Amino acid sequence: MSNVEAEPAEVTCTSTPGGVEVLGPRDVPLGGPRAMTVRRTLPQKQRSLIGAWCFCDHYGPDEVSMDVAPHPHTGLQTVSWLFTGEIEHRDSLGVHAHVRPGELNLMTGGHGIAHSEVSTPSSTVLHGVQLWLALPDAHRDAPRDFQHHAPPAVEVDGAAVRVFLGSLAGSTSPVRTFTPLLGAEVVLPAGSKLTLDVDPAFEHGVLLDTGDVAVGETPLRPGDLGYVGTGRSTLTLSSAEGARIVLLGGEPFGEEIVMWWNFVGRTHDEIVVFRDEWQAGADRFGRVEGYPGDRLPAPPLPGGRLRPRGNPA
Ligand code: MN
Repeated sequence: MSNVEAEPAEVTCTSTPGGVEVLGPRDVPLGGPRAMTVRRTLPQKQRSLIGAWCFCDHYGPDEVSMDVAPHPHTGLQTVSWLFTGEIEHRDSLGVHAHVRPGELNLMTGGHGIAHSEVSTPSSTVLHGVQLWLALPDAHRDAPRDFQHHAPPAVEVDGAAVRVFLGSLAGSTSPVRTFTPLLGAEVVLPAGSKLTLDVDPAFEHGVLLDTGDVAVGETPLRPGDLGYVGTGRSTLTLSSAEGARIVLLGGEPFGEEIVMWWNFVGRTHDEIVVFRDEWQAGADRFGRVEGYPGDRLPAPPLPGGRLRPRGNPA
């Protein structure tokens, strides 16, 4: 998915005594003729990253079609995870793939990649998350790559856990990452309480998709991202009516990044170069074959210099 937002608005964020910081979503219209509105919880003013997770858009279920023309990425990986619907992906590595519910598609756009995303004709409802991972400095020039994985569901105390990145509940994803990470979907039945062993070196985020969940004692509303810092070896999730959540985790990303449009870099000047090269059709991004239409032009840069963002110490 392409980020078309130029002027991020501030959002409300509250801390609670239980040590869970509730990051509320804000609605972001993605623009275009048949566009949808997404609920964005990362980045926001108070928190830019959870581990290397630097972007979290949650959308649907909406009766919409998606048609995102070829657009570029640098310095990041895109993680597509659907609950409902089907999206056709084409990229400048030459990959033509489908994003389906319960199947991870991880695209690496380190040095530069371009891709298009179009919902299939039979896909009438879209519901899922679009996530980005910042690449660490040592690997942010990595070549184009694409990995696909359909994780099996493992059962833990009645909950169904699908681990698409990292390890949880005895299940490990074979997908390669550049920093220590966790990504999993957890479906909790009604009346459940689940305690998961987690890596105390990780910070975590619990995104509530549907239903109700409490992280420890802190309830979340659908669309909220509940943040938990490092130093915990367990996470307890409870649900009265049943819930589906996405659990994100990782070692704190100790670098500041500059995010603008679909680029992740380190400086304003670097972003200017990425933008100029996309506009000029440079080899950095390659070509997407098979998309019936023009590529997306980059929006104008904002007036001031883009400033790096990290997390509060
Ligand atoms: Mn994209």
